[in-house]
Amino acid sequence: MTTFADLGLSPKVLDAVEAAGYTIPTPIQAGAIPHALQRKDVLGIAQTGTGKTASFVLPMLTLLEQGRARARMPRTLILEPTRELAAQVEENFVKYGKNHRLNVALLIGGVSFDDQLRKLERGADVLIATPGRLLDHFERGKLLLTGVDILVIDEADRMLDMGFIPDIERICKLIPFTRQTLFFSATMPPEITKLTEQFLHAPVRVEVAKAATTAKTVEQQLVKSGKKDWEKRAKLRDLIRAEEDGLKNAIIFCNRKKDVSELFRSLVKHEFDAGALHGDMDQRARTTMLANFKDGKLKILVASDVAARGLDIPDVSHVFNFDVPIHSEDYVHRIGRTGRAGRSGKAFTLVTPSDVKHLASIEKLIGEDINWYDGDLTTLPVSEETDEAPRRGRNARGKSESKRKPRNEGRERERPQSEIDIIAAAERAKETGEQPVIEEKPARKTAEKPQKAAIKAENEQRRARPAAPQEQPRRERDRDHRRDRGDNEPSPVGFGDEIPAFMLIDTKI
Ligand code: AMP
Repeated sequence: MTTFADLGLSPKVLDAVEAAGYTIPTPIQAGAIPHALQRKDVLGIAQTGTGKTASFVLPMLTLLEQGRARARMPRTLILEPTRELAAQVEENFVKYGKNHRLNVALLIGGVSFDDQLRKLERGADVLIATPGRLLDHFERGKLLLTGVDILVIDEADRMLDMGFIPDIERICKLIPFTRQTLFFSATMPPEITKLTEQFLHAPVRVEVAKAATTAKTVEQQLVKSGKKDWEKRAKLRDLIRAEEDGLKNAIIFCNRKKDVSELFRSLVKHEFDAGALHGDMDQRARTTMLANFKDGKLKILVASDVAARGLDIPDVSHVFNFDVPIHSEDYVHRIGRTGRAGRSGKAFTLVTPSDVKHLASIEKLIGEDINWYDGDLTTLPVSEETDEAPRRGRNARGKSESKRKPRNEGRERERPQSEIDIIAAAERAKETGEQPVIEEKPARKTAEKPQKAAIKAENEQRRARPAAPQEQPRRERDRDHRRDRGDNEPSPVGFGDEIPAFMLIDTKI
């Protein structure tokens, strides 16, 4: 069996690895480290939890033993999609670099520029950065990338999700062509393949697990739920209580930041030991929350995908998906928070009737059907009322008012996908402190039917109203415009007398 000593790492690094308690390299470490030490480009296809961080940190430490850093010219650069991941990589340098005197600088959003500048001035051996903050420093002329010998691009598929690929391309072009590049991604969508073709030179490909496999140590279950938020919260509470015996700690994932806050408040109100992690929190609050969860001072962490992506929290016993993730890959990442390092874990996903489509694509991706906890959706009973129900649509006699309501009233508006994308992009920007890249999609046309009487009344009012002085220039412009068109008729107001027929249809209010 391969040991760390077989990989070609320096004695200082081997000593630190031993002190960390590791003896056997994980497959990505055994596969990538020898090639990285030979200064080859590496394309590592591996998820978090596979030991991938050490697979680039350890060879980098060995290679950095030769040479010295110069002011503003970092020797190596590691790009991470989120601040938390960047901070985690820094922790790895502290752990494995305990025998080295290296200067490690972290450039992430949400932290003062000045401290970061001081570190750069001193000369960084290792620069760990999120793309936007790195480019900010570069544009201010505080940073030269021409001294970078080793470039690491980590979690590339996440960078793609977050709209960072243009930034990555730009950064790659600022670094000398002769650099060594270590590139990691959990999945290889076409955009990422293109990027590797463009920027890696004859890379050694190391693939440790199929891109979309879920750990065999995770027991996955689907839990049917009504679609209202209070129904989902009640179901979740029941589930947590039912699991109490084996539940050491849990992460609950929500699709939206707003729901993270709401669910967190609701759980605390119901006396659960819960905290929240999302992009609206400032960096210090996020770091404290995460530290408390890691140290076991907090049992339940409610989180958004971006905030929790890739976090190394060993030994989480349970994952709950409050929402079925919209992107199937997120399911794999979410449930990958449990069942790590061979331990067993449980993952529960609340499923409402409208989630069936997303669920189907998850099951297709992971190549298996997930079991239902207590019957599938076809046996979904009429929602049971809970303690939260009376505030929502019950009358004095305790009867539900919902039936008497018009169809859409009181129902949560479902967001169109484009809106979710924009919210997600804005959330990502907050979480990383960087500019969002939002693909603009044309707004869908909605045919609003104004009331006939209201239109007529408005037209009459406008006709009766003398032109306000400030309207004069506009009318002149209109006149000029008409002249251009050879049209000398007075311009109608509103629709004039030609109200379209569809607007004259009587509408019941
Ligand atoms: P990563 O995939 O880098 O997020 O690492 C996941 C976890 O595996 C971290 O807690 C590491 O400390 C741990 N780890 C890294 N290398 C090894 C190893 N060779 N043996 C056991 N655990 C490891």
